[in-house]
Amino acid sequence: MSHNQKNEEKRSSIERYLLKHDIEKLEAKRSFNMSTSLVTLYIPPRTRLSDTNAQLRDEYGTATNIKDKSTGKAVQAAISSIMSRMKSIADSGENGIAIFCGITQGNKVEFFLVNPPEKIGIKLYLCDYVFHVDHLKEMMESKLKYGLALIERGGATLAVVQGSRLDVIREEESYVPGKHKMGGQSQARFQRLTEEAAQRWYSKVAEIMNKTYLEDHPVEAIIIGGPALSKAEFLENKEIDYRIREKVIGIYDIGYRGTVGIRELLDKAQDKLSDFELIKERNLTKKFMEHLGKDTGLATYGEKQVMDALVKGAVETVLVSEEVDRVNIDLKCDGCEYTKTESFKTKNYIDFMKELSERKCPKCNESKLNIASEKDLITELNELAKDTSAVVEVISSAHEDGAMLYNVFGGIAAILRYKLYENY
Ligand SMILES: [Zn+2]
Repeated sequence: MSHNQKNEEKRSSIERYLLKHDIEKLEAKRSFNMSTSLVTLYIPPRTRLSDTNAQLRDEYGTATNIKDKSTGKAVQAAISSIMSRMKSIADSGENGIAIFCGITQGNKVEFFLVNPPEKIGIKLYLCDYVFHVDHLKEMMESKLKYGLALIERGGATLAVVQGSRLDVIREEESYVPGKHKMGGQSQARFQRLTEEAAQRWYSKVAEIMNKTYLEDHPVEAIIIGGPALSKAEFLENKEIDYRIREKVIGIYDIGYRGTVGIRELLDKAQDKLSDFELIKERNLTKKFMEHLGKDTGLATYGEKQVMDALVKGAVETVLVSEEVDRVNIDLKCDGCEYTKTESFKTKNYIDFMKELSERKCPKCNESKLNIASEKDLITELNELAKDTSAVVEVISSAHEDGAMLYNVFGGIAAILRYKLYENY
């Protein structure tokens, strides 16, 4: 696996966090006059965009029949905007695309495109006074991706589970003969051949597993199941990549094969999986604390310090508490030269937008205040991190270590690749 792939895989926690914020913001949007003119468009993967365009052209035509003329025009404005943006989109992507567009509170056409973390499972075109984000929200419920592997002499099943979604990725049959088919003189020779066949089979499964869980469907952790003996035999195989071994967090006796067996394995491993997410976060926080405690010079904290270390390319991992949450908005008046930057928490986004729509420019007293740019702290950290392949991990405050990260260290800390300053 390349360096990039590895970081893409690790980036998922921050991408999900940011998407969660984007969804909150989308939810806060309303159509300019509360008419049903905001367009929600879900395009599943493997959709031909020419089909989507054809549908949009139809909808554009239909919008002329809308009784309220201003609503009809607003719908058409949204559709035109979507169609012109779609020209620069090559395909519906690995997971599909979600598009939200329309004239919002600010009296401007706003366009949002979301590349979801999971496959879009619905095809939807909808006009309403709000954007429909439920389908994206469902995706947010599932978190880490795990591999479930069922291995025995007769066959192997590899699955991936994320939240409530379980996908069987590979099912392989082996050609290892059963153990006691022959008697007499040929017994010893037969057994030797059988053992060789079993070893070749396990090597094959190991290769498939390496490719599946490291490249095709990178997972955070792996659970292995199978009949007692088979699992043990398999785990002795030397073809298993060390990174796969490091990911194994549980091994269980499973009697069934195929999907039924995978479900049984998932049931048995449930506690292990929920512990794992917590443990992963706690270990990261502990690692940071250790560097700090031993004064290795490889830990830093505070917004300014971490930003600075990121710019210098010195950061290996950024730890950011989910409590750290700040949106920075640059306001600009269209009537005069007035500008101002304001900060607030994402959860106050709706209130801010509402208040802004009623606010007048303090300089020229006109209702012409607009959002010139909008950024949140975690997005900013993530962008800086991307440039230097640093990994950003969002840490929940549901556990002691996470709470300490927020309360004691302000919620932003970093583990460094090298020392930035010599101790003295
Ligand atoms: Zn003004």
